[in-house]
Amino acid sequence: MIRWQSIRVVVPALTLLFICFTLAIALLSGQSLAYRRIVEDGIKQVSDRLNFIQGVAEQLIALGAVERLNHLISNFAAEPDLLALLVTDHKGEILASIRYVDTGKHYTETSYIITSEKVVKATNSNSSVLDEDHKRHIITGYAPVCTKGEGLGLRSTQCGFLYYRLDLAYQYRLARANFYRVLAVSLVGSGLGAMLLLAALSRLITRRTALMAEISENFSRGERERRIAITGRDELAWLGQSLNRLFDSVEDNETALQEKEERWRSLVETVVDAVITINDKGIIESFNQSAENMFGYNAKEVIGKNVSLLMPEPHKSLHNGYMKNYIDTGHKKVIGIGREVEAIKKNGVIFPVELAVSEMTIHGERLFTGLIRDITEKRKLRDDIINTNRDLFEANLKLEELARTDGLTGLYNRRHFDTVLEEEMHRASRMATPVSLIMCDIDHFKHYNDILGHQAGDACLISIAGIIKQHFLRGSDLPARYGGEEFVIIMPGFNESQCYKHAELLRQSVRAASIAHPGSDTDKYVTISIGIASFQPNDSTVIPPTPALLIETADHALYEAKRAGRNQVKLGGVI
Ligand code: GH3
Ligand code: MG
Ligand code: MG
Repeated sequence: MIRWQSIRVVVPALTLLFICFTLAIALLSGQSLAYRRIVEDGIKQVSDRLNFIQGVAEQLIALGAVERLNHLISNFAAEPDLLALLVTDHKGEILASIRYVDTGKHYTETSYIITSEKVVKATNSNSSVLDEDHKRHIITGYAPVCTKGEGLGLRSTQCGFLYYRLDLAYQYRLARANFYRVLAVSLVGSGLGAMLLLAALSRLITRRTALMAEISENFSRGERERRIAITGRDELAWLGQSLNRLFDSVEDNETALQEKEERWRSLVETVVDAVITINDKGIIESFNQSAENMFGYNAKEVIGKNVSLLMPEPHKSLHNGYMKNYIDTGHKKVIGIGREVEAIKKNGVIFPVELAVSEMTIHGERLFTGLIRDITEKRKLRDDIINTNRDLFEANLKLEELARTDGLTGLYNRRHFDTVLEEEMHRASRMATPVSLIMCDIDHFKHYNDILGHQAGDACLISIAGIIKQHFLRGSDLPARYGGEEFVIIMPGFNESQCYKHAELLRQSVRAASIAHPGSDTDKYVTISIGIASFQPNDSTVIPPTPALLIETADHALYEAKRAGRNQVKLGGVI
């Protein structure tokens, strides 16, 4: 459809209008020029004829040759625009005229209107007078006809009258006809020119621009395949190429954007974490596949609902308040900070999640994206690890305890005793405090075993160990099984005499326990012999004596106790 605002209409129409306007001015001015020319030519013609006829007529009148005068006048009768030509005598009687019928008549009897005023004026001036009737396009000339001699009844003093009337209407008609012809030709020519211009514009510009506009518009509506066909090398071809390049680049960018969006979408969809987007009112706007799997909701069920749906109490009730508080104060509690919270599934199961929220603004709308990871397994694993670690730690403690403990009696073992004794001797040396060692041995224990059996022997060992444990309750005292039926007690901070008291009490306690010993030569009950050794550092002690020396001293004292009859305490001395 061609619209009237189209270039192919407006330009030819304006051109046509311009041509018509110019043509009208040219033709009108040409016509007025032609008219003026006609008048000028007419005047000249009348003047020339009057002069010519006047001269010839005067001679013919002088000769009295009226026939020749008539002949002269009738020569002009064929002229198409001559209205009247006549010669009169001084009384106004027509001597000759282009109409023979008028000859001899008085000019007033004819149809010619000649005022006597004009005749008088012409005859008096002896020259021709011209009169123009512009309305009727008539030029009339008057001239006197005076003769030198007498002829045709005219004396030399008398003048006749020459009348010449020219009708310019014919010339005017010709000029007008010519004007209309030129006008018609020009109009046809202009019309053809305008149509040609229309066709050329249509072909060169408007059809192509309309096509470009159409393709561009379709492109903007999403039609991507069409491109502008490039014809010619003009500016429109250039514009077409530029538009095609623009389309290509838009399409490329669009494809790249789509690919990115696709990748991003599939990433969001396939990511193990749930991705949930909410707006600043807490309304869910997106809910990915993992979120569906995690919470048991279909995306359609939750989109448009408040995110508090996914939270257990008390957060469910408080969430709107959290959001409002953040929006009012900007104080962040979760945004940008990952934290562990609890979530609730559609089936009501509450489970631990790791939540990280990021904020973004898209088209002026504040959106919050929550990245949610189910940490049920992780937490279970962590709890398992903690439990295992605790068990391991306890087992280690037990192992350490076992490594230090004597399996039968529950007292510390020889290895631990060695370690502690060395430490205590160094400490005693450092602190300049005494340390004493008690070494005791069950009397005649071989016989006990032999008579009562090994198991009873073990039970006896356990009983003695129990007595020792009860007796040495100080945290710093270290009772240990030295080996076989021998026990040792380290007593840090105790000098020989203090230690002796404890040793003696121990001996008495064992006897007082009244464990029957059928094989003992010493007593009917189990007894022990004790040897004591003490280390008392002095100012000069820098390096303490070896633990072996202390043990040896105590052992020696024990031997002395045995030798002295058993069931007694002996001092080995202070080293
Ligand atoms: P003495 O009064 O001189 O100490 O005489 P004794 O018999 O106690 O001394 P001896 O060294 O000859 O004997 C120690 C005995 O202790 C030998 C062994 O059978 C017994 N014995 C050592 N360890 C254990 C043990 O763990 N359980 C039992 N039931 N007996 C043990
Ligand atoms: Mg022994
Ligand atoms: Mg013994």
